[in-house]
Amino acid sequence: VPSNIPTDVPSGVPPLTVSVDVPAKTNLTLHVGAPHAEWGGRHELDTIYCGVGVYDTVTVTRKEPGSGFSLDLAGEHLGDLASTGSDMRRNHAVLALFALAEACGREPDVSLGIEKRIPVAAGLGGGSADAAGALLALNELWSLHWPIGRLREIAATLGADMPFCLTGGYARGTGFGEQIDDIPSDSPAARQLRERGFAGLTMIGAYADALSTPAVYAAFDRLGAGDGDDNHLQHAAIALHPRSGDAIREAVAAGARQAFVSGSGPSVVAFVADERAAADVRRAWTASRAVDRIIMAQAPAVPRIRR
Ligand code: ATP
Repeated sequence: VPSNIPTDVPSGVPPLTVSVDVPAKTNLTLHVGAPHAEWGGRHELDTIYCGVGVYDTVTVTRKEPGSGFSLDLAGEHLGDLASTGSDMRRNHAVLALFALAEACGREPDVSLGIEKRIPVAAGLGGGSADAAGALLALNELWSLHWPIGRLREIAATLGADMPFCLTGGYARGTGFGEQIDDIPSDSPAARQLRERGFAGLTMIGAYADALSTPAVYAAFDRLGAGDGDDNHLQHAAIALHPRSGDAIREAVAAGARQAFVSGSGPSVVAFVADERAAADVRRAWTASRAVDRIIMAQAPAVPRIRR
């Protein structure tokens, strides 16, 4: 069906294509415990996740039976992602496609399109967001009607942040981050987060260079958490990427309500009260070149499914 022809597909008819806009994540607090051998060396985490409204769009479209999958990546900042060759099979969205196809007994005859806007390897969970987007979109495309809990079980086999990315908003993550307790927006805990400034207008300070998550955990194992940070990885991330520390100091001095390294970095997230404070932070970051790029967003953000 060409997209310029208005259609009125009756519900119950399986769609030919489904798109999901899926937000980035950040960690409002991130407490890192001991590594566990049975989790492949992953550390125990206790974190408050927050969806941040810079969105990748994941589109899944039916293909001829037996034709296999294809992947099409678009975006200005694709980092180390490749859309052809052997790397394609390592794309988190492709892994999610294979995992769900296997779990529900379907062939992965699907074309996957990803329009990337979330910076890659930036501590913003872009790969996890794309995997979650693929699961949400395929759940519709294949009319599976699986509840989120069942999708989360598959997501947890693929990555720590993926179960959260299926729902966004605010949530607590434990285990290695994959055990999710939702924090509904009308709960006292959500109100407390909003009162602390973790809501509304958000500025992402992004970088052309990336930080590898394992490298940041290795630095954390050497250096520890430092003191005073709600994000235990911030000290290690700043040691490896000092400009993130500069950006945090400048954002706070310019009036941001909260500013911190996002996850394992190097991106910095600053929550500001209004447009005026945003302009002040923008001026500081632009003058000092403490960040390479500024992305404006709203938080907390949730995925949007479009049939
Ligand atoms: P992590 O989830 O490990 O903390 P991150 O949030 O810092 O990572 P991502 O954008 O998820 O960063 O990228 C981490 C790595 O995952 C990249 O180096 C990239 O090669 C790989 N990757 C695989 N698929 C994707 C995808 N769809 N989008 C982004 N990165 C992907």
